[in-house]
Amino acid sequence: MSLPPNSTLGVFGGGQLGQMFAAAARELGYRVHVYCPESDCPASQVADQHTVADYHDFQAIAKFAQSIDAATLEFENVPVAAAEAAAHFIPVRPAGDALYTVQDRSREKGFLTLAGIATTPFRNVRSDEELNSAVQELGTPAVLKTTKFGYDGKGQTIIESADDAMAAWSYLGRHKCVLEQFIEFEREISVLVARDVDGNMATFGPMENAHANHILDVSVYPAKSPASAAQAAVEAARQVAVEIDLVGLACVEFFETPTGEVMVNEIAPRPHNSGHLTIEACGTSQFAQQARTVAGMPVAEMTATRPAAMANLLGDLWSGGEPNWDAVKQFPGVELHLYGKHTAREGRKMGHLTAVADTPEEAERLVREARAALVR
Ligand code: AMP
Repeated sequence: MSLPPNSTLGVFGGGQLGQMFAAAARELGYRVHVYCPESDCPASQVADQHTVADYHDFQAIAKFAQSIDAATLEFENVPVAAAEAAAHFIPVRPAGDALYTVQDRSREKGFLTLAGIATTPFRNVRSDEELNSAVQELGTPAVLKTTKFGYDGKGQTIIESADDAMAAWSYLGRHKCVLEQFIEFEREISVLVARDVDGNMATFGPMENAHANHILDVSVYPAKSPASAAQAAVEAARQVAVEIDLVGLACVEFFETPTGEVMVNEIAPRPHNSGHLTIEACGTSQFAQQARTVAGMPVAEMTATRPAAMANLLGDLWSGGEPNWDAVKQFPGVELHLYGKHTAREGRKMGHLTAVADTPEEAERLVREARAALVR
């Protein structure tokens, strides 16, 4: 049974993903309560209530959980203990078990391997011996990644030759790592999957994702993938959702090889930057799907009648002062989203642009040109 209107959905995390979730939840008639350690975070600007407390403050978590009807999250590094503490009082979707799986790259890849879902070939690295044999077995180039807290290319480095291996591991602080084969991918793609309490699923994608300095730069729907690769990615995303027993919305990121193989790179059990274009492209956005599934409503179909593209606006755009917002008006159909962050820093996600058009190329051209026109 779904929560009646005016019930309160709680969200751990206060960034832009929480902000867009809150907006979507409110459109469905729900109240939103944000829990995060920072005051004046983007999500709190559109939420009904805001608890400012640490993720390890269990008294605050218990109080928060007793004031809401269901909880979700907008970043996967919410401590599992926080999710489980809240789950004593209300459903937490996705559950702590799913977070546990994806919070550690070694566990995530072990899980994918056991489930028979293709991922990049990898080895665990916990000692000099393991590092040496991993490099021998996988060859070079390879990518060494810390198992925890890596995002946007942080906590990873490329090993060009076996001689670089020890220095690379020292550079990463000799923390527990995975070594991955370097994949000469044709493209990077992502698929959204929503799953409701009854196990019904809806998927959307794949999007094609271009990165700059390891940060997502532009996403285009649909990806140029051959139909068989797109189908395989959608199937893998559905399988991931079933295997982690997802209730909520997740995004699965893949490398697609030149021969059309797809390998999972990462699982995000929450809305994803590459899914922002669903706000304009789909009747039900990724955030609306999250709100629906967390509230116990059935998933809605996620379809787009036209291609779409999204370009991120990073803090770098502010280096010459306030961007030229008027310029967006020269691009009818391009939608501007800003997250209400007060300070622009290099690499910080401040907002994004979306365009829907007749072809993916045209949508991409529009967001790229509109973004270039913003520069002072
Ligand atoms: P990640 O933090 O794992 O998403 O990695 C950030 C980016 O680094 C990816 O989006 C890829 O562009 C690149 N990358 C990561 N792992 C590999 C790999 N095994 N082979 C090639 N490129 C990779």
